[in-house]
Amino acid sequence: MVDLKSQYDLIKAEVDQAIQGVIDTTSFINGPQVKEFSNALADYTGARYVITCGNGTDALQIAMMGLDFQPGQEVIVPAFTYVATAEVIALLGLKPVFIDVIADTYELDIAQLESKVSSNTVGIVPVHLYGQCSNMEAILAFAKKHNLKVIEDTAQAIGAKYTFSDGRVMQAGTMGDVGTTSFFPSKNLGCYGDGGAMFTNNEALAEKLRMIANHGQKKKYHHHIVGVNSRLDTLQAAILNVKLKHLDRYSASRNEVADKYDEAFAGHKNIKSPARVPNSTHAFHQYTVQIEGVSREELKSYLAEKGVPSMVYYPVPLHQQEAYMDLGFKKGDFPVAESLCLKVLSLPIHTEMKVEDQEYIIETIKGFFA
Ligand SMILES: *Cc1c(COP(=O)(O)O)cnc(C)c1O
Repeated sequence: MVDLKSQYDLIKAEVDQAIQGVIDTTSFINGPQVKEFSNALADYTGARYVITCGNGTDALQIAMMGLDFQPGQEVIVPAFTYVATAEVIALLGLKPVFIDVIADTYELDIAQLESKVSSNTVGIVPVHLYGQCSNMEAILAFAKKHNLKVIEDTAQAIGAKYTFSDGRVMQAGTMGDVGTTSFFPSKNLGCYGDGGAMFTNNEALAEKLRMIANHGQKKKYHHHIVGVNSRLDTLQAAILNVKLKHLDRYSASRNEVADKYDEAFAGHKNIKSPARVPNSTHAFHQYTVQIEGVSREELKSYLAEKGVPSMVYYPVPLHQQEAYMDLGFKKGDFPVAESLCLKVLSLPIHTEMKVEDQEYIIETIKGFFA
């Protein structure tokens, strides 16, 4: 699905030097590379403040703690996403309120927002799934009207750009109250272990998020609020400093691969290529098609036999996960999410895809239908 080894080989000298630099100084925790990286990422994304943390799931949790969401309050979240988004809501004693997604673009269906909001709702978590922004203009307007906080889950969409109707262009993660992201190795900006970050333009909130991530302390051993321990390792920050310089090239490569798939599957009666959200660029964390008229599982096994990996992100919608049964949802509650779980198939996409490898993948997929 991804080829992190070939990617590393091309930047090996830079990465090795960065890692050695950290080891030489032994500042493994909160070394200068961490600050350097958060500054560089703020420059890159246009976010005023970037607060690094241990992983993308922690980023979501700290964001909700920072926004003062209280147990029992409701947070709207798509039924079709990675579990982390809903997990932290449940962990904090909040109530996840699921919402269905749009079949073509996989982003949350803004037309259903009005029916999900109650006097107890405090936030919305749009997930920029597979790499493109949700309809942020509508989401922000809705949030403003109902006085809700917006946390953008940007784990899959770092670098994606959204254009508002007034012409302003902003990056994924920098439009809501807080944006969160992950540096999990296979993410578009991945490190060599776990890592995450939050974005905000609000100074007071930035300060609070930084405190929560660091045991609720401002000054060592003085704890103002209850926090957590969630840090980006210096080693990971050093690696990310190198990789951030290549992110534009990585995004361009992913888009080239996506364009070739688009072209190859255009008009195919069994393969539906991903539609684009108007006003958003696509970071193509995943190239996810929908398989129609044949068994996805048979196609997947056929591809595996021919040496072509493929993945199902995600096979079960959140409302049908065992862990969330007690919320009382049932089959049929989120028909689009349920149907996507049966149809989606993500194809290999990465930054070092060789033309001949992608041609083989495309020929093999088409061969299944021949
Ligand atoms: C990867 C991911 C996360 C969690 O990131 P971790 O760093 O693995 O904790 C959260 N949300 C989405 C949509 C993701 O893809």
